[in-house]
Amino acid sequence: MEMTSETTVDKKAVLQRYFGYSTFRNGQEEIIDSLLSGVDALAIMPTGAGKSICYQVPALMMDGVTLVISPLVSLMKDQVNALISQGVKAAYLNRSLNDAQFDKVLENIAQGEYRIVYVAPERLKTMRFINTVKRLHISLIAVDEAHCVSQWGQDFRPSYLNIAEFIAELPVRPTVGAFTATATPEVKQDIMNILHLNHPKEVATGFDRPNLFFSVLRPTSKPKELQKLLNERTGKTGIIYCATRKRVEEVCKALCDKGYSATRYHAGLDDEERQKNQDDFIYDRKRIMVATNAFGMGIDKSDVRYVIHYNMPKNLESYYQEAGRAGRDGEDADCILMFGQQDIETANWFIDHTEPNPELTDEQNEQFKQKEKERLGFMISYCKTQGCLRSFMLRYFGDTADDRCEKCSNCKTSFQTADVTVDAQKVLSCIVRTGQRFGAQVICDVLKGRVTTPIINFKLDRQSTYALLEDVKPNKIKALIDSLESQGYIEYVGAGRPVLKVTDAGWLVLKGKAQVQAREALTVQTTVKEPTDSSVNTELFEALRDLRFKIAASRGVPAFVIFSDATLKDMCIKMPTTDDEFLRVSGIGETKRKLYGERFMSVIKEYAPEKKHAPEKKSDSPFYLTQAETERYEYSEKPIAVSEIAVRINRLITDDNRKKLKATDITEWLFSMGVLKVEEVNGKNCKLPTYDGTKLGLSIERRESKAGERYYVTVYNRKAQKFILDNLSFFELQYSPKSIK
Ligand code: ADP
Repeated sequence: MEMTSETTVDKKAVLQRYFGYSTFRNGQEEIIDSLLSGVDALAIMPTGAGKSICYQVPALMMDGVTLVISPLVSLMKDQVNALISQGVKAAYLNRSLNDAQFDKVLENIAQGEYRIVYVAPERLKTMRFINTVKRLHISLIAVDEAHCVSQWGQDFRPSYLNIAEFIAELPVRPTVGAFTATATPEVKQDIMNILHLNHPKEVATGFDRPNLFFSVLRPTSKPKELQKLLNERTGKTGIIYCATRKRVEEVCKALCDKGYSATRYHAGLDDEERQKNQDDFIYDRKRIMVATNAFGMGIDKSDVRYVIHYNMPKNLESYYQEAGRAGRDGEDADCILMFGQQDIETANWFIDHTEPNPELTDEQNEQFKQKEKERLGFMISYCKTQGCLRSFMLRYFGDTADDRCEKCSNCKTSFQTADVTVDAQKVLSCIVRTGQRFGAQVICDVLKGRVTTPIINFKLDRQSTYALLEDVKPNKIKALIDSLESQGYIEYVGAGRPVLKVTDAGWLVLKGKAQVQAREALTVQTTVKEPTDSSVNTELFEALRDLRFKIAASRGVPAFVIFSDATLKDMCIKMPTTDDEFLRVSGIGETKRKLYGERFMSVIKEYAPEKKHAPEKKSDSPFYLTQAETERYEYSEKPIAVSEIAVRINRLITDDNRKKLKATDITEWLFSMGVLKVEEVNGKNCKLPTYDGTKLGLSIERRESKAGERYYVTVYNRKAQKFILDNLSFFELQYSPKSIK
């Protein structure tokens, strides 16, 4: 069925009214259209892409009830709370409800009280539930985390196998939508077959999460590096994943002792403490969660700004899933992995000591183990690659990717290369002379000339290579060993405690037949470094965050259920002081305006005098725009000339009494600001950007007139356009710029 334009308007109106967003994200509209026209859908979209909107919008547009099947019991309450605070009638049915509460919800469902009901899969078999819903009009069934039906995946849930049976029992088959973030071809096939999807519309938006910055670090001291990373991220919320419970305890204690707001989570804690610690993190009472991989499934905290892996996980699937818990709100977030040689040993140990699955044959168990080792190999390669981290990962998952993303530590770090042949020979010689029996730590200690137990026991201090690199710092020796290993001059062999051996390539170096170069990182970047966004008033942002925390605490919900960080940021930019303006903030619909508008605007008003262009007040300046007009300005992503900017601005002016802006009004002001200068090119005076101008976003474009004459114009990118727009009210002054004669 073709969508009518009316439906198009409707779904946008629903998106705006309930969720406060003005545009759909990639893939959302296709899924919504499909479900609205009664065609099943299978959506494969990464975490944070906005899958919920894909079934929530149709749910609000169709008659009857939408059932959302989700395995994440701990998450349902927050999801339902979030919907209610957006003005959507919703409820949930799971094992956290007692019998009386369960019955009450069923009674309300029967009376048509809700538009959306979340159900745990094991509840689908309850007779009371089946009998109630059989009498209802179920318009849509959304299966969240649909990969749980597949035994191929890591999250298989037997109760998911009930879903098809349940659907078959309904008098009329509703449209079915399946949603997942992870799907290999086998899993995808399982979802289609097991859920009996009927010629579903498939939408896959790719695995990339453009807002995440990926880094791999090889610190010589992980505790010190961690502290540095945390100090660079003060006040932000983050997760630190460790490989073992013991490490979680150590790291968490060290952080708490130093005064960081940290808590911990692992399977060794009792249920009560785990729940408490998790809540402390979700409700912002603690900023840092130190945890094993037991933490995270079913945690919908959208404002996690960084995920640090203290140890390397066992495969890229786990890594992407865990790291992907950062930045679910679409705002910038950092995923940092601290890699050390010891991590490989730990990961191997885990694989070797996994209990065999009794349902599989010995041969199948062995195959499984080999597969795990293979996956570990890719994980290690990710840690060691010198190429783009994002493209490595995306290609591993079968996506295409550019060679460079410019948003990972490998793309953004500057290196210097040096010839290290002589020192490399010393390392190689030490490995050979000590009998190729030791790992990096012992080799480093011998070269440094230390006195340690292995050195005494094995009489290594009598070797000719003892103390050969006495004057070199231990972290430099370690870095050199790492570099020799990653370049293939030495390799680790043996399980358990692998030892270093010299490879054929290494022997060539030892014999003086090959040179060794090493790359040294000058500055390692682990986050997006953009000039701080001057349009976001940080003081106001903090004040709004405080208010959000207070409201959330009094309502007993996590802060992001009230507003996301993205919404608070947009408030700081738009500084709304009227209801209409408040509604224009991204993420604010009717209900949230009514619930919170007044309180947030009263805080904003305290900061309002700082507004750059006092909006509704008619300025004395001959040029001004109201705030509403400013918001309608259409930014050109492609740099444009100043005359074009003037046209775009004049188009916004809604009354005739105002003076129109001329291009020269803008350029004269820019001269006075020192961002433009006059320069003679080919005998002609051209207005060109100064150094400050280029930093602002001005650049030069060469053009040709019809007569074939070349000339130059200055063009303005988005940032420069915003700068002009933000400062219109200053144009009233009469400038007599010195730079033009
Ligand atoms: P997923 O289930 O795919 O991990 P969510 O449904 O939780 O993602 O959405 C992630 C975040 O993106 C939420 O904060 C949500 O409100 C926001 N979001 C979803 N759709 C849009 C949109 N069209 N515009 C802006 N933000 C959106």
